[in-house]
Amino acid sequence: MKGGLRFHPSMDEDHAAALASLMTWKTAVVDVPFGGAKGGIDCDPHKMSDKDLSLITRLYVEQMKDVIGPAIDIPAPDVNTDGKVMSWIMDEYSKYKGFSPGVVTGKPLHLFGSEGREEATGRGVMDVLAEALNDRDQDFPDITVAVQGFGNVGGNAARLIAERGARIIAVADHTGGITNPKGLDIPALITWSTEHGEIKNFTGGEPFESAEIITWDADVLIPAALEAAITEDNAAEVRAKIVVEAANAPTTPAADAILNDRGIFVIPDILANAGGVTVSYFEWAQNIQRFRWELDRINNELGKTMRKAYRAVCDTAQQEQIDMRTAAFVLAIRRVGQAALSRVYVSTDHGLGAQR
Ligand code: NAD
Repeated sequence: MKGGLRFHPSMDEDHAAALASLMTWKTAVVDVPFGGAKGGIDCDPHKMSDKDLSLITRLYVEQMKDVIGPAIDIPAPDVNTDGKVMSWIMDEYSKYKGFSPGVVTGKPLHLFGSEGREEATGRGVMDVLAEALNDRDQDFPDITVAVQGFGNVGGNAARLIAERGARIIAVADHTGGITNPKGLDIPALITWSTEHGEIKNFTGGEPFESAEIITWDADVLIPAALEAAITEDNAAEVRAKIVVEAANAPTTPAADAILNDRGIFVIPDILANAGGVTVSYFEWAQNIQRFRWELDRINNELGKTMRKAYRAVCDTAQQEQIDMRTAAFVLAIRRVGQAALSRVYVSTDHGLGAQR
């Protein structure tokens, strides 16, 4: 099983179960051979020293060491966890179980990590957006983009999309928003937010209230922060034509219905942000093989995986006359159902004659 570790005050058992379930369907959409998992700690790393963060991470491993493992459940980074936290997990787990780089993914490159893993989720977001634009005879230089969340996923997605010529006109994090209609200087904003831990007071644009990002007048909206960013209170006000769900569950079911009614094209989370788990799978495979792949190979394989998954979801949506989110779930449930039924004796395929 595979899924991220989240260190956040909102983290609890229900959150973990819901996010783990999304991971099951996500891995099926990109055809990565893992089930779903998730974990985390109810804490606020913004208020903690590195020493305390390391201690709490190591205590977590001490409690979890028998339920995680390279062939059991392999954590990865999620909100407020990164390569540093993954290194501590690998180190602590290896103390109990022996050298085990494959127990976590998202490790630093110099400590059994993979080329391309850090930016993989953002790159996958760019890959699926490229497909959606292509279907509309558009390209990146034609579009303006608003991004909510400027961490690993939002920051890398913004950078890669800007590199392909799109204008990122608004970005928001938990401290506020910043806009520049000419396009924000994303590398400078990344440097600023890395140094200050927030985008607030960046001088390359005008500030605005963070919550306004969802209804920003841009062609594409990328929610890349937390759950329930688009709700029934703001969905009618969304002005983007395409929403790429880089975060997990950023749209509530009620808001989803409103976006669908309004004809807004939503690329659902279990497809849009699956680049992270895909390259995590590559990292785990490299750890198991004791072999390192080059960046070109990683990015090519990732691009192929994301395009194939995007096409499979589009085809399902067209065949079944359903929206992209429902199509992604139909595809994933068919695949998991087919695999589950193949392990037991059944006289029919129960209508799950799914295609790989
Ligand atoms: P991160 O901790 O690196 O960044 C989170 C960002 O969200 C920060 O910029 C933070 O300021 C911002 N944020 C938090 N609350 C906000 C609010 N109320 N308004 C605006 N911004 C807010 O986390 P991440 O790894 O980038 O994860 C972001 C999302 O992507 C999560 O939903 C996560 O589950 C999902 N995701 C992450 C990965 C991955 O590889 N890291 C993979 C798949 C999905």
